[in-house]
Amino acid sequence: MNNSYQVQGDLASEKSSEAYPTMVLCEDCVANHEVLVDEGPSNEDCEDCGNSSDE
Ligand SMILES: [Zn+2]
Repeated sequence: MNNSYQVQGDLASEKSSEAYPTMVLCEDCVANHEVLVDEGPSNEDCEDCGNSSDE
């Protein structure tokens, strides 16, 4: 099961959507990001490695 996370992105950006983007990540890839908010389970594939949420 993948989860949706709000992560720390490009803090130099004036757009909040880029400074604090929401990404769908698997358990492996989430370790590579600074997680601010765990928004819970998602049916989408991991945005980093493409892992399916079904596995
Ligand atoms: Zn992944």
